Amino acid sequence: HKEILKRFRDPELGRQMAGRVRERLDRLTDRLGRRANVMEFCGTHTAAISRTGIRELLKPHVHLMSGPGCPVCVSDYVDIDRIIALAGMSGAIIATFGDMMKVPGSRTTLLEEKARGADVRVVFSSLDALAIARENPDRAIIFVGAGFETTAPTAAVTVEQAVREGRDNFFLYSLHKITPPAMMALLPDPDLQVDGILLPGHVSLITGRGYWDFLSRDLGLPGVVAGFEPLELLSAVDALASLLLEERYAVINAYGRAVREEGNPSALDAMARCFDLQEGHWRGLGIVPASALKLKPELAPWDAEVRFPLEKRSAAPPKGCLCGEILKGKKTPFDCPLFASGCEPARPVGPCMVSHEGTCATYYRYERFT
Ligand code: SF4
Repeated sequence: HKEILKRFRDPELGRQMAGRVRERLDRLTDRLGRRANVMEFCGTHTAAISRTGIRELLKPHVHLMSGPGCPVCVSDYVDIDRIIALAGMSGAIIATFGDMMKVPGSRTTLLEEKARGADVRVVFSSLDALAIARENPDRAIIFVGAGFETTAPTAAVTVEQAVREGRDNFFLYSLHKITPPAMMALLPDPDLQVDGILLPGHVSLITGRGYWDFLSRDLGLPGVVAGFEPLELLSAVDALASLLLEERYAVINAYGRAVREEGNPSALDAMARCFDLQEGHWRGLGIVPASALKLKPELAPWDAEVRFPLEKRSAAPPKGCLCGEILKGKKTPFDCPLFASGCEPARPVGPCMVSHEGTCATYYRYERFT
């Protein structure tokens, strides 16, 4: 495995490939009369493109814009506030991923509530939360799952395992979402002028390449499924530039070592067995129809939102925070007056500075001095 990764990080090959990509992108610039706008939808790509220096390297040749593909960042204040309220429920244990701890609700965070005595625990997977439920049969364990198609299948099989065990103290608060409805809501925006998409590699492991054909069919946009190593990212941008130069608006797979055409059918089956699609609240995008994965009615006894119904109160974003516009690709962290000046990873104002996949956190780490 190390040897394979070494190949995808070879500096000499990288230099050669970068030269070819730049030359192709410049031909595209001549054709379009401006730099092409390419959106990387996925937060892991945002971090990888900045960390490897590719955003800076290609800046004169292509505008690599960051999209809403960070599941923690797109979780709405309404949901965060409700989860914080559940943390205050007597006897409840909230189990969630580390990134969720510092996401600000309208008044406080899970981390602050933990400091005040709430039982909030960081877990690495939904199965860890189920183990906590086994160890604490007299308490309600609420697993807050935030993620796209990549992590939703694990949450689904965990709920199925809880059902099999007859475990009545384990509940899922599903913030899981699927990505295509958000793309359909965002990409046609004429202000963005998106020319092509770098498609999320991890989501595609589950969904397969074919999942994205709607981009060319319904939006007339080319897309390339991309890996995360430097040469994989360069070759994905190169493939996208080629498609645009050829005016071929297709979706192709440049992450063939991991992604198959049909994805992972057993993971997709688990999602289909457990979840229905409902309208979802996305920070920045608002309500997106049929985008949220919520447990099916027959699984209501394990659904935290059904078992512990709370009022949905609308909440305003923190003053001055531009996360909503950044998630839409309309602004960058540099446009935010609070960036690195009142908002930083140790004291985040908005969720884009919390998650290690958030655009503001990425720009803080890698782009601040470029
Ligand atoms: Fe929000 Fe902070 Fe990003 Fe500004 S820098 S948009 S305040 S998260």
